[in-house]
Amino acid sequence: MEIRVAGDARIDVLRNDDGYSRALVAVAIGKDEVLAQFGARETLATPNYLTVQTGPETHILLAPEHLQYINHSCEPNVFFDTTRMEIIALRDIAAGEECTFFYPSTEWTMDRAFDCLCGSSACLGRIAGADMLDADALERYAFNQHILDRLAERLAEAA
Ligand SMILES: [Zn+2]
Repeated sequence: MEIRVAGDARIDVLRNDDGYSRALVAVAIGKDEVLAQFGARETLATPNYLTVQTGPETHILLAPEHLQYINHSCEPNVFFDTTRMEIIALRDIAAGEECTFFYPSTEWTMDRAFDCLCGSSACLGRIAGADMLDADALERYAFNQHILDRLAERLAEAA
C-alpha cells in the first residue's frame, strides 16, 4: 500500500511498504509550465545520492525537501532547470502521473550509478551521469548549462 508522506498543493509524495518513494503531479499541468521552484537547503562540493548538481562544483540538497523524491526516467516528463531554479514540464502531465527527470541532465558524474528499470523503450540501462552517455543520448536529451560546458570542454580537449 502507498501512503502520502509529503508534498504540497502541486506534488504528492507517496511511499510504499518497501520504503520506495515517488512524486506524483497532483494537479494537471501543461507543457513548459513551472511545476515548482527550488532552492538549496545546503550546498556541497561533492555529490551524494540526494544532491542535484547546479554548477561545476556545486551540488545542492533540494528545498523544498520533498522534491528529492522525483525519480529518474529515460523518458522524463520534467526538467530541472538549474539556471532558472525551476522544474519545468517537458510535456502535458495529467494529475496522478509520476514526475520524473533525466538525472544526467544535471549530473556530470553520479555518486551512485545504477541500472535503470524505468521500463521505457528508450531506456539507456546504466545511468552514471552525462560523462558516460553516448553521442546518441547526448543528441536526444536537454541538458543544463554546466553539463553543456563540460561537454564542450571535453570536445576541445579531444581536438
Ligand atoms: Zn531507463
